[in-house]
Amino acid sequence: MDRIKMTTPLVEMDGDEMTRILWKIIKDELLIPYVDLKTEYYDLGLKKRDETDDEITVEASNAALRLGVAVKCATITPNADRVREYGLKQMWKSPNGTIRAIMDGTVFRCPIIVRGIEPNVRTWKKPITIARHAYGDVYKNAEIVVPGKGKAELVFTGEDGTQIRELIHEFDGPGVIQGWHNMDRSIESFARSCFEFALDAKQDLWFATKDTISKKYDARFREIFDTIFEDEYKARFDEAGLTYFYTLIDDAVARVMKSEGGFIWACKNYDGDVMSDMLSSAFGSLAMMTSVLVNPDGKYEFEAAHGTVQRHYYRHLKGEETSTNSVATIFAWSGALRKRAQLDSLPDLEHFADALERSVIRTIEDGEMTGDLALITSLSNVTRLSSREFILAIKRRLEEELNGI
Ligand code: NAP
Ligand code: MG
Repeated sequence: MDRIKMTTPLVEMDGDEMTRILWKIIKDELLIPYVDLKTEYYDLGLKKRDETDDEITVEASNAALRLGVAVKCATITPNADRVREYGLKQMWKSPNGTIRAIMDGTVFRCPIIVRGIEPNVRTWKKPITIARHAYGDVYKNAEIVVPGKGKAELVFTGEDGTQIRELIHEFDGPGVIQGWHNMDRSIESFARSCFEFALDAKQDLWFATKDTISKKYDARFREIFDTIFEDEYKARFDEAGLTYFYTLIDDAVARVMKSEGGFIWACKNYDGDVMSDMLSSAFGSLAMMTSVLVNPDGKYEFEAAHGTVQRHYYRHLKGEETSTNSVATIFAWSGALRKRAQLDSLPDLEHFADALERSVIRTIEDGEMTGDLALITSLSNVTRLSSREFILAIKRRLEEELNGI
């Protein structure tokens, strides 16, 4: 069989530990035999980041902006232990933080649904995608511990010196204060990323804030979404038969729990952080959650939502058999290949991405799965496979799919 051709390379960002081991097996067994894989390779493994003073992460992010589609393996975000373990020159920043700062945009997280791994919420039939704004609010806050009696004010000083003041509170004793900000520019790109993603995924978009209480801050988010929707997207949504729906966050939470799923839920930064953890565990497993960063100009970076699975890696180093779930990492590849295929009009490549995903789902639904899923599945007669055996089980089905069986 001729291997499927690509035209534009993908930006390939390699990573660390157990996911780096899976990365290689996935490429060797599921991709290279079938696709004439073109990638621009960047090694974001911690050793290489240290050697290059983290320049490699910046280069990889710029490559993603240039080529438009990237696929990333999980990477270590160093802490003090890692600095010792790897003898690092310094505690390098989170690669995902660096990539996000350069690419800008919104992180979309979506569970992979299979029969046999049932969501804890009975009504959920289709995936719910969380779109998390990744700038500002509590993540860029300023805080003061108030020592005692006094007046707290919010002061903005314009370039020309004019000031706007707002009383926060007259303290009659100790307390705390916190200041947040966000920027129209960032909220606008968040809104556009969400509208673009919804059109691409052909799903409705929900957005919710607490604008009944936060009448200026959260209201600004609502206004920006409304304006951009009316001016730029309403016609396209109508044409696609899709809805943009704004509601209060309390109402959204209640509706999500009673919904069937199948929509995108845009969240402010903190809401998205918390709600995506709730959704991923309620849908079954972190190892079944995909993550894609979409920038406002339509550049994509695909990855798994989980980390490098360190505990499994240490077992692997000791020569023990591991049973690490590669599904989210495989879906990062299929997502990136599909996007590349759509941008370059390569129907064979798009067909391959679909076949690969179907093979993964069939494997699990046939009862062959890794240990994490074997623990929670509702299927009986389940075979628990090692990391490699699971990928080989997918490969057998992929061959059938590609041969039209
Ligand atoms: P983790 O790698 O997500 O793993 C936490 C635990 O979840 C694992 O020990 C394992 O539980 C289970 N798990 C996660 N993914 C799994 C998979 N694919 N298959 C089976 N089980 C899976 O998180 P972590 O241990 O907190 O972090 C490890 C490293 O990853 C850290 O250095 C962190 O900086 C990095 N990290 C990177 C990213 C990223 O690149 N996007 C995201 C998060 C964390 P059991 O051990 O009980 O089997
Ligand atoms: Mg969180």
